[in-house]
Amino acid sequence: QAKDDGGGKHRQFMPALHSNAQERLKLEASLRTAIGKEEMELHFQPVVNARSENVVSFEALLRWNSKDHGPVSPAKFIPLAEDTRLIVPIGEWVLREACRHAMAWPEDIKVAVNVSGEQLLDPRFAQTVVRALGDAALPAHRLEIEVTESVFLRDGRTARQTLEEVLALGCSIALDDFGTGYSSLGYLRTLRFSTIKVDRSFVQGAAQGSQESLAIINAVVAMAQSLEMSTTAEGVEDAAQAALVRDMGCTKIQGYYFGRPMGALEARSLVVKRRNTAAA
Ligand code: C2E
Ligand code: MG
Ligand code: MG
Ligand code: MG
Repeated sequence: QAKDDGGGKHRQFMPALHSNAQERLKLEASLRTAIGKEEMELHFQPVVNARSENVVSFEALLRWNSKDHGPVSPAKFIPLAEDTRLIVPIGEWVLREACRHAMAWPEDIKVAVNVSGEQLLDPRFAQTVVRALGDAALPAHRLEIEVTESVFLRDGRTARQTLEEVLALGCSIALDDFGTGYSSLGYLRTLRFSTIKVDRSFVQGAAQGSQESLAIINAVVAMAQSLEMSTTAEGVEDAAQAALVRDMGCTKIQGYYFGRPMGALEARSLVVKRRNTAAA
């Protein structure tokens, strides 16, 4: 396509680049107003105890249904929000909403909130958590903060300090997508993670018989046990995968098999219904 005589080459190539950048700017402008226009919504995905299969928590997952762009995938708008630091106000909204919804659940069920590195570098982050908990009247121990290994990349010391503040409040922290990032085991020694989340790619690999994936899950489970941390297998899609990760010693399971991310009402009725069935 670009193969053309001198001038035509440029005329064909430049507009494409231009429209890409313009598309991104438009998306950014829409993202900036998304909360005010009530285009954001939290969905909640259940996490179950691997043995009892009871729901122990829900992970809050952000959804954006843009009036201008339609539904936009988190894979697209979260990186944009991080690059533009819009993740700081958006993340605050997520925390507040997540705490508010969690108050409607039985009190032994936690809520997990994903937090980006950019948020941990904000010196007011812990204060934001305090206010979100306080305004919802949610006890700190019911909030778990999920971070990926990437949060330690840019300014690991500050990220670590912020997580220490979050721990001091009584919240727990989980290490998300473990094994896919820029792994350094240093932070596992110095930070008190409650849970290591085994990335979906290892679960899928193990289910397909990959010896490497099986070995990695075994190693992560053994390490977590000796550090007295629990393990959540992510992305479990069927009964065979659930049995596999349970038998390998993962303590919690999350994935489409036990429930897709769902609206707040549905999440609430899931736990309330279960509770009533168990009591009957
Ligand atoms: P994550 O925190 O690792 O969340 C798990 C992702 O896996 C979710 O994708 C979920 O819908 C998907 N998933 C769960 N079970 C299964 C399964 O059985 N099979 C498959 N194929 N997928 C499954 P989602 O909702 O698209 O979110 C993608 C990522 O966006 C999240 O990954 C998280 O890193 C980020 N994210 C979502 N909400 C927020 C937020 O409020 N704040 C921040 N900072 N990041 C967020
Ligand atoms: Mg997560
Ligand atoms: Mg994950
Ligand atoms: Mg992820």
